This record gives sequence, C-alpha cells and structure tokens, in this order.
Amino acid sequence: MSFTLPTLKYDYKALEPYIDAQTMEIHHSKHHAAYTNNLNAALETSDLKGKSIEEIIANASKVAPVLRNNGGGFYNHNLYFDLLTPGGASAPQGKLLETLNGSFGSYDSFKEVFTKAAATRFGSGWAWLIQKGDSLVVSSTPNQDNPLMDVAEVQGSPILGIDVWEHAYYLKYQNRRPEYIEAFFKVINWDEVAKRFKA
Ligand code: MN
Repeated sequence: MSFTLPTLKYDYKALEPYIDAQTMEIHHSKHHAAYTNNLNAALETSDLKGKSIEEIIANASKVAPVLRNNGGGFYNHNLYFDLLTPGGASAPQGKLLETLNGSFGSYDSFKEVFTKAAATRFGSGWAWLIQKGDSLVVSSTPNQDNPLMDVAEVQGSPILGIDVWEHAYYLKYQNRRPEYIEAFFKVINWDEVAKRFKA
C-alpha cells in the first residue's frame, strides 16, 4: 500500500487571480507529487510502511529525516489544497466563528495574528490555525513540520495551513509574501476548515 497524490477538486486556473495557474500546476504536479513519491520510496525500507500518514509523522523526532520531510510535505499539501476554493471564500460561521472570537477577540484579530505568523516565518515553512481542546491558536513551523509532530513548538490539530515556501507564491508575488497571504484569505474554503474543527 502506498500513498497517492490526491486529485484537486478544481482546475489549476480556478484560483486566479489570487493564486495563478502556473504556480498551482507546478505546486501540485511537481512539488506535491515529489513529496508523495519520495515518501513512498522511503517507506519501502521502513518498518512504518502500512501506517497512516498521521502515525508516520507523529514521532517526527524519531523517524528518518526523509520521512519527517516528505511525510510532512504529503500531509501539509493534502490539507492546503483541500482548504482552497475558487469563487471567493465564505466566512467562518457558527461554532467555529464563536471559538475564533473567543480565542482571538474577533475574526479580524485572528486574521492579523495568522498573517503575522505567516509573514514572519523565516525561510520556508507554514503558519497554522490549530485546535487545542476548546480553543484555537496560531503558530508556525519550519520546513515541512506541522502541529501533529512531536517536534512542533505548539502541538494540536491543524485546521488551516498556509504554505509560505517561495514555491507557493514566487512566480506571481516574487518577494511580496504579504500580498500572497492577503490573496490566500480570498480563497479559503471555510466550510472545509469547519469540517476539521471539532465542536
Ligand atoms: Mn508547497
């Protein structure tokens, strides 16, 4: 049994003008595909073969770096592409919105905190909205680490993640990472975020 590159639920051009088609195509068909293939190749000689992706990455401090990096890459990109949608983002609603308000004061404050975490992550990495029990927190991780890993500074269940590796935005935004983060907010699928939130 091996992991499969998921098919996107929308076209590469569907997130224009916020995320351009060429970036999406390379990001999915090259980068995400490479993490998937490298993960499968590394599992061939590992006793973790057959485990779920969550089980493989949970003990990131103890597994081979190739599994931490490509297992994280596979998981993170599955989440990232799943949480995007064409046609403009819906807003968070219901219990998720209530919890965002409770944890950050308001949706706008949450957005500010998340944007800052994404903008200030030095080098390559991710920023996350994480459920920890009844509350939500924002954090960021380097490389392909994520909050499910034992190495993460803030651990919990990621319900939203933004990829701030340059490959996620450089073709369109070059060094203007904050513009990419602002654009990302236009294509978040809050219904999908809400599905991952355990009320
Ligand atoms: Mn990426």
